[in-house]
Amino acid sequence: MVRAEGVRKHFGKLEVLKGIDLTVERGQVCCLLGPSGSGKSTFLRCINHLERIDGGRLAVDGQLVGYRRQGDKLHELREREVAERRRDIGMVFQRFNLFPHMTAVENVMEAPVKVGSVPKAEAREQAQELLTRVGLGDRAHHYPAQLSGGQQQRVAIARALAMRPKLMLFDEPTSALDPELVGDVLDVMRQLAADGMTMVVVTHEIGFAREVGDTAVFMDEGVVVEAGDPRRVLVDPEQERTRAFLSKVL
Ligand code: ATP
Ligand code: MG
Repeated sequence: MVRAEGVRKHFGKLEVLKGIDLTVERGQVCCLLGPSGSGKSTFLRCINHLERIDGGRLAVDGQLVGYRRQGDKLHELREREVAERRRDIGMVFQRFNLFPHMTAVENVMEAPVKVGSVPKAEAREQAQELLTRVGLGDRAHHYPAQLSGGQQQRVAIARALAMRPKLMLFDEPTSALDPELVGDVLDVMRQLAADGMTMVVVTHEIGFAREVGDTAVFMDEGVVVEAGDPRRVLVDPEQERTRAFLSKVL
């Protein structure tokens, strides 16, 4: 579903990604860990067409990110085509980014109505189902300010799911939450994984990564230091840098 080969990205003189190789198969959960500034968010943003890569190859669902193939030629995607591709990818950020003037159900149905041109009644029904799925069936008519951080984050997940994405990207979805609210959000993500969603999750929740992750990737300074079975990488890492990082977050 995601295939990165030697992906490079720089901002001015700063090389943020120095040749990232990473593969996420369909239905798998890849957990991405690493110190602040190691390039995790930048890499997710590249997958989601929010940043342009400077080198290497990056493909989602067999299609090169940013390009369309015509015969044996590659054409850069137009803005509209980028928007279309992006619809297949759901993204959940650290901050919930809900529309404050819309209720939970309105937040969830917004994209399908606006860009997917789904009839309102149908979108509302689907949104209600999604809210139920994330445990918020009874909060549909609450505004974000009336919900806890964990509930808002679950609405954000429901909103991302409303476009029926093939791939879900999570960028530290629980790190802005009070500790007692983290569990409910992780439970929703665990369920999503069990339902077969392909996911790339930047997280420092080691327990989650170990239980739910099919692979764990440890990044530092724009390179993949170590990758593999989370039960090995996060329990008995081979690399000293991974070991040092884990001793800090655990
Ligand atoms: P954190 O754990 O703090 O979220 P991260 O691993 O997600 O860190 P990135 O946000 O990908 O790290 O940032 C990697 C580096 O790229 C940082 O040094 C950051 O300052 C820099 N960077 C990110 N986005 C930009 C940008 N748009 N312009 C310039 N520099 C940027
Ligand atoms: Mg980040």
